[in-house]
Amino acid sequence: MLPENFKTYGLYNYKTIPQMANVPEELIREIEIVGRVLPFKSNSYVIDELIDWDNVETDPIFTLNFPRREMLREKAYMLVEENIDEGGDKKKLDNIIRCIRLSLNPNPAGQSLNVPVMGKIKLRGVQHKYPETVLFFPSQGQTCHAYCTFCFRWSQFAGMNELKFRMREIDLLLKYLSNHKEVTDVLLTGGDPMTMSAEILSSYITPLLHDNYKHIHSIRIGTKALAYYPYRFLTDSDSDDILRLFEDIVKAGRNLSIQAHFNHPRELSTEAAQNAIRRIRQTGAQIRCQSPLLKHINDQPELWSEMWRKQVDLGCIPYYMFVARDTGAKQFFELPLDKCWQIFRRAYSKVSGLCRTVRGPSMSDHYGKIQILGVQEIQGEMVFVLRFLQGRNPKWVDIPFFAEYDPRATWFNQLKPAFGEEKFFFEINKSYLRKTRPFLFE
Ligand SMILES: *Cc1c(COP(=O)(O)O)cnc(C)c1O
Ligand code: SF4
Repeated sequence: MLPENFKTYGLYNYKTIPQMANVPEELIREIEIVGRVLPFKSNSYVIDELIDWDNVETDPIFTLNFPRREMLREKAYMLVEENIDEGGDKKKLDNIIRCIRLSLNPNPAGQSLNVPVMGKIKLRGVQHKYPETVLFFPSQGQTCHAYCTFCFRWSQFAGMNELKFRMREIDLLLKYLSNHKEVTDVLLTGGDPMTMSAEILSSYITPLLHDNYKHIHSIRIGTKALAYYPYRFLTDSDSDDILRLFEDIVKAGRNLSIQAHFNHPRELSTEAAQNAIRRIRQTGAQIRCQSPLLKHINDQPELWSEMWRKQVDLGCIPYYMFVARDTGAKQFFELPLDKCWQIFRRAYSKVSGLCRTVRGPSMSDHYGKIQILGVQEIQGEMVFVLRFLQGRNPKWVDIPFFAEYDPRATWFNQLKPAFGEEKFFFEINKSYLRKTRPFLFE
């Protein structure tokens, strides 16, 4: 695909997508309605190479980009539907949409708590939750090549394009990193940083390669471009510059890890995706893959084992399987934790050790990344066995703990400690802990 043939589609022009001609009227109406509330954006790569237009009713990639009725609660859907038609009160509709959006938990897991403060300045665009890794959200990367209907970052899609702002942003980040030598990883995320030009991306990354920041061993880029627009690394006018930047990072002795977001094995099957992966790997960068587990998109163990195998075949490293977050169209995508573990276990047991670098299912909660190790019966009580993969307090990591088994629970906040305990170990007061778990204080 040549760059000039690449088009994006939103609510204003989705009816011009040629393939739409065969989509049932009803589905189109649903896009119109739900698309007012949830983010909607697709593009010609997804449309021409990924979606199975013969099966739009159930196609996982169609569902990944195009809003469906069931993604909103029935009441909310009806409310928008009643007020959308011509002659309706625009202000009233906007207000309804705003209220529904606010009810969808736009900032889950207390993300805003992780924003650091330097002197009197709040570092917008930075999150520092785990000591070794700083997340950075460059202002020009707060969009994506297409939008996932399940996305939890949707409250963030608002642009800001000034050069001045960028300079200030970088200065603040660099100053923060100078003061935090414990940070080894900087993860550029968004949105999708790969929506930025090579020039802008480089203006963020190149300063980090200076000897002053030798403590930054790894630069990571979180992106879904390999799935939504692999031509970003192939045929764009600055594709080669992107790859040269990747080479420069590696030449500077830093580790470059592309944290690639793939939801379905089909995204790894196109020639473009495979060529893009090959080109990126040739720069010396590594590619790690992660995805949430989503009903209607990838809730079958076979899809996951196929996806992990394909990743390993292409030289990528399976990394995380996440539990879908409590935000946006959660009720449409969510699966009980028990089911998540069953899917993980079945998929994991079917692949070779090279695929078993993947960890999950993992919930990114306020407390950290909590992995469901499994369900077990202990002395007559059914329990979830859990552990922290990442903890707000690093000392919590890797300590197994137990919750009452609840086959319907879909998130950690619905779980209770097992064995009649009142609190989980990380909520108990310190003096008691010091006696019973001295290793937490070593
Ligand atoms: C997942 C995550 C990271 C990175 O964790 P790794 O396990 O090192 O990949 C960093 N910060 C936040 C807030 C995260 O959720
Ligand atoms: S690619 Fe990531 S940030 Fe972008 S819409 Fe999808 S989930 Fe959200």
